[in-house]
Amino acid sequence: MEKVKARRVITNQREIKKRIEKDLDLYCQKAIELGASDARVVSAKGVVVDERVRLKCAVPHCHLYGSSPNCPPYTPTPDEVRKALCRYKYAILFKHDVLPKEDFVDPQQWLKGHEKHQKMTHKIASALESLAFNDGYYLAMGFAAGGCKTALCGGLPCQFLDSGRCRFPLMSRPSMEGMGIDAFGLAAKVGWEIYPVAHKNVDQDSISCAVSVGIVFVH
Ligand code: SF4
Repeated sequence: MEKVKARRVITNQREIKKRIEKDLDLYCQKAIELGASDARVVSAKGVVVDERVRLKCAVPHCHLYGSSPNCPPYTPTPDEVRKALCRYKYAILFKHDVLPKEDFVDPQQWLKGHEKHQKMTHKIASALESLAFNDGYYLAMGFAAGGCKTALCGGLPCQFLDSGRCRFPLMSRPSMEGMGIDAFGLAAKVGWEIYPVAHKNVDQDSISCAVSVGIVFVH
């Protein structure tokens, strides 16, 4: 495995300002290298945490509700998330194109098809977070998409809830939506095409693409 150089932590904001733009660009490039189709630097202030997003996990109950520590009701409340996220200035928003789109859009194909795409989102979010962490942004934090029970553990019962030993301790993340982040709104705001796709009666031809979206708060 390629060794990554660690950088000394600095707290001088002027020094951080000097280097962070270059670093953020590099993280966007890295996201693309890892399989993302686009990555953007976004202002953390523009990330909306909305109680209704988390409520959507419970009403109607998502099949993954309570299935791992990364899904509600175990995730922090929107109030806690909002308070924490407003301390950041910059984040990297990335998307991964779901091909074929039926892996998300087709109600039957989705059952297993979505797993590899959301796994990719977990991989990119955790890799970027670790890169930023080693660069001295020690509070970097990444969120993925979907539930880790299906994205990483293939639907097996969560080992963390069972015994306290996660099968993927460094890669498993809460989803943006599980943290109450309005992922649809954010993706649409940066100009990405995104559709709600979970309806059995949706006309699949009306959906031109499917994407899986993640975010890493850097500093
Ligand atoms: S064991 Fe699997 S389902 Fe449980 S937290 Fe870890 S990755 Fe998620």
